Amino acid sequence: GAAPPAEPAPSAAALPYQDPTLPVADRVGDLLSRMSLDDKLGQMTQIEKDSLVPQSDLAAYRIGSVLSGGDSTVSPNNAQTWADTYDSLQRTALGTSLGIPLIYGIDAVHGHNAVRGATIFPHNIGLGATRDPALVQRIGRAVAEEMAGTGIDWDFAPCLCVARDDRWGRTYESFGEKPELPTSMATFVTGLQGATLGADPASVLATAKHYIGDGGTTGGVDQGNTQLTEAELRALHLPPFQEAVRRGVGSVMLSYSSWNGVRSHAHKYLVTDVLKGELGFTGFVVSDWAAVDQLDGQSGFTGAEITTAVNAGVDMVMVPYDYKKFLTLLRGEVSAGRISQARVDDANRRILTKKFQLGLFERPLTDRSYTSGVGSAAHRAIAREAVRESQVLLKNDGGILPLPKGAKLFVAGKSADDIGNQSGGWTLGWQGRSGPVTEGTTILQGIRAAANDPSQVTYDRYGNGIGAGYTAAVAVIGETPYAEGRGDRPNGMGLDQEDLSTLARLKASGVPVVVVLVSGRPLDIATQLPDWKALLAAWLPGTEGNGVSDVLFGDHAPTGKLPMTWMRGASQQPINDGDGQTPLFPYGHGLTYGTTPDPDPDPDPDPEPVPGACTAQFRTVASWSGGYQAEVTVKNTGTGPLTGWNVAWDLGGSTVSSLWNGSLTVSAGRATVHSAAHNGALSAGATTSFGFTANGPTGTPATHCAGS
Ligand code: BGC
Repeated sequence: GAAPPAEPAPSAAALPYQDPTLPVADRVGDLLSRMSLDDKLGQMTQIEKDSLVPQSDLAAYRIGSVLSGGDSTVSPNNAQTWADTYDSLQRTALGTSLGIPLIYGIDAVHGHNAVRGATIFPHNIGLGATRDPALVQRIGRAVAEEMAGTGIDWDFAPCLCVARDDRWGRTYESFGEKPELPTSMATFVTGLQGATLGADPASVLATAKHYIGDGGTTGGVDQGNTQLTEAELRALHLPPFQEAVRRGVGSVMLSYSSWNGVRSHAHKYLVTDVLKGELGFTGFVVSDWAAVDQLDGQSGFTGAEITTAVNAGVDMVMVPYDYKKFLTLLRGEVSAGRISQARVDDANRRILTKKFQLGLFERPLTDRSYTSGVGSAAHRAIAREAVRESQVLLKNDGGILPLPKGAKLFVAGKSADDIGNQSGGWTLGWQGRSGPVTEGTTILQGIRAAANDPSQVTYDRYGNGIGAGYTAAVAVIGETPYAEGRGDRPNGMGLDQEDLSTLARLKASGVPVVVVLVSGRPLDIATQLPDWKALLAAWLPGTEGNGVSDVLFGDHAPTGKLPMTWMRGASQQPINDGDGQTPLFPYGHGLTYGTTPDPDPDPDPDPEPVPGACTAQFRTVASWSGGYQAEVTVKNTGTGPLTGWNVAWDLGGSTVSSLWNGSLTVSAGRATVHSAAHNGALSAGATTSFGFTANGPTGTPATHCAGS
């Protein structure tokens, strides 16, 4: 291990970089000019808080960032102790002569899920079913407020993966199988960061992850290989990142996976040329957990791996353990000239810019006024709303749902009364776990509260004791928690033995069965479905189980739409909309109770209009084998008239055979429609549409709309 670098003499107060009235670029430039090489290499290093021994190493090695991985915790696990831990680490970082604050990252992927008592929101797959980007933005804001209560500055979310194979164990972290869904839900970035990064203490840095193609691996293998042409990769997996960049996302995390055999962490073209160059990403790129030291297929860092990753464009390396070895190797690579000073400075400029913008130099410690907001009633109300909106009603024979209040009900199933099961992975632990892991309302508790007479509700987890005389049996079954790797299901996606036995008991009683499926993805249920009167996909709703009962009893009619195509059987995997297979339930399917749900009044509620801005919404009107017809609606989201606009989308291998309203240019897999000619000026708030017919695979959304 390296000896810690010597501490330079203390500098005078009120240096230019400490002056909040100066532009951030000037402050960064001034600070950089005062930093030693060791200071700079430390900024590029992120370590797990529990591996910092002794804590003073944080200052001694000038470590720029700390994270809490999924299993990280504090004792006692409450917001107060997290804030104390944060402040203690931050004070250590501030104790160096330059006093550069650390940036602390965590996976608050569905709420501040490492903190006991925090609000746990539905996992992304459920949020995708809501089709409600404005709600997702409000959730992002609530998560940021809960994080602010513990000081933590940086969220490794949202996951913008486009999950293309349900066997993948991280499918639940995806908003949906088609790029337009994750793209529309990039509002989460704006929720976390706010309109302007650092404008208030509840602004946390967002991370678009995992760049790129994590959800497209062959066989749905976690950390596997995504085999696609460049046009396919761009069409399917790039649009959500483009949108996140447009929204000013502060960081991007790379994917463990490979593209055509080359790891993302080694992919200079994808990271430096496409992300930083073409997309114009000005934030910083962070590696995934120990991903750099796995580049050669073995754990343990080598200088060559570090050089490959840093030169590919990784600005900060999530180490997370052996920082001494890492820093020694990194320093050696720089000294030998294999990593240039310019690259080190570029990485530092990117990281420090975000630290300044976040306000860390002015407000390094926890704002305790937010601490009591962790798990607040206001946030739980947002979560309950999200749970309601995420429920997808897939079957409702004879209109058995909504359940009449006061009816005699029998509730069964391993997930009926289990906060851990209904929350899934990344809940008080990396892989999550069954049981009362945190505070909340179980689905059973929600049912009891919603039924007019709780004594009418009988519960037995296994379905024992059910007999005639019940209106319905409600079976709450599905998957138990998992996060990464462990959730991969290459060998079948059916129900487990316990669920099948429970269902058999209910069936034998002759009582009509309503199934609430708690799962991170569609499951192979076609064989059992005929036995069920109703099926409600609840996904992984989180702590507010009363959002499920709101729908079961009709206090809220279901409005959710499938974010994934639902297989007839696991042999159909991968199955995706428009691939020619006949699913059990198509993408977008979702029933309701008689009334038609309100169409989303504003399909792209962009919260911060910019003058001259526009958005484009893509809709497949019809598709057939070998072709499709689509309509794109362009909206002026700016404050003044648009005098011209153009919309580009990726053709994904197809060719446009006809187009109406507008003129078209096509270049290398990408088509651009120019307007102006046919509409003249488009006034603020106004929309216009064009349509086209294309042959080839179903198109992907308009990915870019530029106006002037
Ligand atoms: C996951 C990331 C996560 C990171 C830090 C990795 O194993 O792939 O999604 O952000 O750990 O906890």
